[in-house]
Order: sequence, then structure tokens, then C-alpha cells
Amino acid sequence: SVAPLGSSVIPIVNKLQDIFAQLGSQSTIELPQVAVVGSQSSGKSSVLESLVGRDFLPRGSDICTRRPLVLQLLQTKRKPDGSEEEYGEFLHLPGKRFYDFSEIRREIQAETDREAGGNKGVSDKQIRLKIFSPNVLDITLVDLPGITKVPVGDQPSDIEARIRTMIMSYIKQPSCLILAVTPANSDLANSDALQLAGNADPDGCRTIGIITKLDIMDRGTDARNLLLGKVIPLRLGYIGVVNRSQEDILMNRSIKDALVAEEKFFRSRPVYNGLADRCGVPQLAKKLNQILVQHIKAILPGLKSRISSALVSLAKEHASYGEITESKAGQGALLLNILSKYCEAFSSMVEGKNEEMSTS
Ligand code: GDP
Ligand code: MG
Repeated sequence: SVAPLGSSVIPIVNKLQDIFAQLGSQSTIELPQVAVVGSQSSGKSSVLESLVGRDFLPRGSDICTRRPLVLQLLQTKRKPDGSEEEYGEFLHLPGKRFYDFSEIRREIQAETDREAGGNKGVSDKQIRLKIFSPNVLDITLVDLPGITKVPVGDQPSDIEARIRTMIMSYIKQPSCLILAVTPANSDLANSDALQLAGNADPDGCRTIGIITKLDIMDRGTDARNLLLGKVIPLRLGYIGVVNRSQEDILMNRSIKDALVAEEKFFRSRPVYNGLADRCGVPQLAKKLNQILVQHIKAILPGLKSRISSALVSLAKEHASYGEITESKAGQGALLLNILSKYCEAFSSMVEGKNEEMSTS
């Protein structure tokens, strides 16, 4: 079954956000950003799109991603009648809601041209897009231009160095998860993605290797050893994927169909037997979810201590008011106590004890 990005983390994060909303504080749980790096046309935009499950990024055999696209996914509440509304909004077009995702793609292209020109120019000025949906996790994904070596069109002679600097400025942040994308039909030892990721994250504690294009490898070759980390080991390991080909894109093949085709691909190839946990976009989503859960686990103690100190200051406030507002302050303390218990329950839930949370 397909586990979209965030499926296992959304309930946990939502509960925690609720708790902190009641405490009157906002944006409490900062999840790591996820950025894709690699050479041009390695399949970066395709991987991000599959993860989000919607078609809206420019993809193609030429240079398509020419400005960093900072994609903020924001979870909205389902409407009372149960229907869901998904739309995008650009920072440069405030208030304009895009319900048609192919229109979002056109706007990304138009806005890329406005800043970087129509002739393959690249700019480090971000495009910021928010996607509102009941089905997403509050997380930020960054689609970056790929590494190119030979300047074309309006590109300056130092295009490669410029793009490298741009990419590094994102992935050197310690909170950034790096999806290092290398196509299976090129040599991993020449991978720009792994080289960049290795510079930004020498310990490899936040780099996931993605091998794309398993469907178009040379006859007689396969990616088994790559996926097993026997060629270049990577601490968090590799995931192999099959994205849509250019032909699929031209024929408007949906992401859903592509995921079905991907699963069929892996099932029909005995060489990938036994590697199920390293094959396919759903596995990538699962891996990301696990990393996010780890992250939440790591920040829980800090969240708990914030609740405790809120309790302490409330108790002090209570003491200074005297008896008049006693009942009100008492209620507050009671609430905080309940919240703090909630937080405890979270720790156990996140630690895998699988305790059901009660919302009552
Ligand atoms: P980016 O430049 O790294 O963002 O790469 P894109 O996502 O734009 O993909 C570049 C081209 O490769 C597009 O024509 C895609 O259809 C194609 N492509 C990407 N991934 C795969 C894959 O796994 N298999 C095949 N056959 N084509 C792919
Ligand atoms: Mg791209």
C-alpha cells in the first residue's frame, strides 16, 4: 500500500500542535526541510512530485528547474461536509489561490522566466509556493536546479560553480535532509549528488541516496549492489525509484498510475527480490517518515520542559494574584497538567509503545 509522505507523522504532529496552540504558542515543531540535489535531469523534480502526490512541477529533459522552489506544505482542516480543498498560493501573488495544479506549473515556469529570463538562465532568487491541503504534513521541500557543466543559452561561464554554491547554501544547514539523486544509468562514482551531499554532510547522518531511472539501465545491468550500498556506502542507505519517463509526461500519465507501474516493475524483476524496503517511492516516504519520527523524538524533551516552565510561571502568577482569580488560575494549571500528561503519552507513542491517544 502507498504510504504518502507524512502519513504516520501527521497525527503525532497534529496533536502536539494542538497542545501548543492551547498554550498560546505557535510554530512549535520545526520539522527539517527536505532538499533534492543532483545533476540536471537526474529526476529530482520527479521524485518530489511523487512524494507530494500531485503534478505541479516543471519536469523535462532540458533545464527546467532554474530557480530554487521552496515548497511549503500546510495542512488544512477538512471542510465540515468532509470534502477536501487543495490549492496553492505563491508568495509573489498573495491572495491568489490556484486550484488547478497544472496552472501552478505554468506559473512556476512564467515566474522563472520573469527572473531568470527565457533562455536557460539560472537565478538564486527563490520562488515560494505554499500548498494547502488536508492530506499533507507541515513540511518544507526544496526543489533545486541541477548541476550542469557546460554553459548554454544565457548561462554565465561559471554556471557550475554558481549552482554548486546555491545548492550548498541550502544543504549545509544542519536541519536539512538531503535527497541525493543519481540516475541508475550513470556511474555512482561520478555522482554530483553524492559529492555535494558528502561536502555538506560528511557524516552522512542526513543524506538519503536516491537511485532513479532503474527502468532504463543498460541491458544486463541492475542496481542491486548500488541499493545495497556495496558501491558507495551511505549511512541512511539508498532507495531505488522508477519515475515517469518523458513519454509518460507527454501522455499525461498520472502519478497514481506511475506508482502502480513502479510497483509492478519491482515485482517483476527477481533481482530486486528481498530488497523491497529499498525499492519504490512509497518506501522513500516511509523512510522519511521514520526520520521525522526520530526527529520529533529528539525534540520532545525540549517541548516537555517548555510545558513545565509554563506550569511554573503559571503557579507564580497564581500566587501573586491571591484569592480573587484563584479559580481561573487553577483552571489554567489544571489544563497545563493535562497537557503535560499528553506530552508524556506522546513520548511513549513515539517510542513505539503504540498506546492509543485519547482525545477526550
Ligand atoms: P531534474 O532535472 O533532476 O529535476 O529531473 P526531472 O524530474 O525534470 O526529470 C528529467 C527527465 O527524466 C524527465 O524527462 C523525466 O521524465 C525523466 N525521468 C525522471 N526519472 C525517471 C525514471 O525513473 N525513469 C525514466 N524512464 N525517466 C525518468
Ligand atoms: Mg528539476
